[in-house]
Amino acid sequence: MNGRLGILETWVDPVTMEKAVAAVEGYVEKGERAHAIFAVNPEKNYSVPKDPSLYRAFRDADLLIPDGIGVVLAARLLHRARLSRVPGVELMEEICRLAAAKGYGIFLYGAREEVSVDAARVLAERYPGLTVVGRANGFVTEEGMPRLVDEINASGARILFLALGSPRQEKWFATHRDELTSVRVCQGIGGSLDAVTGRVRRAPPVFCRLNLEWLYRLLREPSRLGRQKVLPLFALRVLGQKLRLMLQATARPDRSGASGRGAGPSLAAEDVFVPEEH
Ligand code: UDP
Repeated sequence: MNGRLGILETWVDPVTMEKAVAAVEGYVEKGERAHAIFAVNPEKNYSVPKDPSLYRAFRDADLLIPDGIGVVLAARLLHRARLSRVPGVELMEEICRLAAAKGYGIFLYGAREEVSVDAARVLAERYPGLTVVGRANGFVTEEGMPRLVDEINASGARILFLALGSPRQEKWFATHRDELTSVRVCQGIGGSLDAVTGRVRRAPPVFCRLNLEWLYRLLREPSRLGRQKVLPLFALRVLGQKLRLMLQATARPDRSGASGRGAGPSLAAEDVFVPEEH
């Protein structure tokens, strides 16, 4: 997507929910291959650069959505970009709404068997007209993978939701993308099916309004502390980067405003982690 922004070691696309859904429709209507949509959050800033295959999967993704508030704030601070969150689970539901209206078949791959069964039913009820053309739980063995891919292709699914958690889902896509014949959009949705079926409760609106969804999730699932400890580190690194840019801009006043996003410190080419063309 044009205008992709570098956020430390990852990227994010400056899309709104509306634009993301329009992009999905375009991928299905005009695309001839499977397009990847992945969510970006501070945790990925640490995991992606450490793993070359994950790095390539993110670099080559068609749409990197600003899933969490950390990335939204970082984009504002580093690029003066006014992004709003596009939570993966909400985009998934919007894609289901679109699929129901347009007749795109969806395939659910991932989560525990009972969650997958329930999710297929809940989504079909919630979006009348939606066709869940197939589903599989997320515990298929390597030996079973060719059969699963055949099943996905035979289903004629246009949309494939990968609910395997990160980085498993992104790596699965990188490995199997070229084997997918009917799928045009593949979204990595992590634990969204657990949320859709009510097994994991989403934060109450007040937490969402205050951008504290992460805190709510941490309080309900303290085992996530290990993963969320990267948040303060991420904030510190973003502030460090910002400071560095401001110092550079002071030292080189001729380079301020170079990004075209208004006056003030901006990112110089070497400061941005820019994906290669794809
Ligand atoms: N999961 C799976 N296969 C596995 C491991 C996990 O399908 O081998 C599922 C798990 O049941 C859960 C999801 O992947 O539904 C991971 O959820 P989590 O909230 O950890 O993912 P995140 O959204 O944080 O990436």
